[in-house]
Amino acid sequence: MLLTLITILKRSIIDFTALFFPSVCKKCYTALNKKELYLCRRCLTSLPYSRYEQFYSNPVNKTFWGRTKIEFASSIFLFRQNETVQNLIYRLKYKNDPQCGIFLGEIAGHIYINSTIFKKADIIIPVPLHPSKEKDRGYNQCAKIAQGISKVTGIPVENNLLQRVAPAHSQTSKHKYDRWLNCEESFRVNNNNEIKDKKVLLIDDVITTGATLEACCNKLNNLKNINLYILTIAYTEIE
Ligand SMILES: [Zn+2]
Repeated sequence: MLLTLITILKRSIIDFTALFFPSVCKKCYTALNKKELYLCRRCLTSLPYSRYEQFYSNPVNKTFWGRTKIEFASSIFLFRQNETVQNLIYRLKYKNDPQCGIFLGEIAGHIYINSTIFKKADIIIPVPLHPSKEKDRGYNQCAKIAQGISKVTGIPVENNLLQRVAPAHSQTSKHKYDRWLNCEESFRVNNNNEIKDKKVLLIDDVITTGATLEACCNKLNNLKNINLYILTIAYTEIE
């Protein structure tokens, strides 16, 4: 009874707050309607969509040519300084806002299923975080994006098949540690049978050099008959 009262009271406070402080668009600060989240419809449609999913020779796909075997790679947005996309990714990574990852993932999911080049994957694998980093953040931001994509596409997310391995004690210098982060040995596949013969969609938040994704792919490509697809939320061109 008391619990029910507290729940009702909490709900009333939330509704009351929403009445005077409605959620506003993170870009233009107009009030959002009930169907909108983070951005109003106008701002959502004016984001810097790359459209890379529509053409095979896109810069993200080309990043991997000659480096590792993949079927296709793309990013949803172009990542520009002080852009809304950058702010949303910042919220997701540093402001304890996992919901923002699901939001971005849903946008990605709709674009993914409408691409003629992506083949529908059997499983989605988010790029794993180091366990200590995940503990600090409370969640893996890539897993949240994957969750959003799964919501739209119905493709299951596998969070535990690919894992980060803790570095050896010798990797203590920053330089050595950074190199370790992006090498094949820093990843482990937990259940080979679950991944082999599958079409896998790998998810990351932002791609810059592609080194981490390349390391993941190299590890996964050791498995039999695997087809890898890569999708990231944003792409940063290297200057
Ligand atoms: Zn807006």
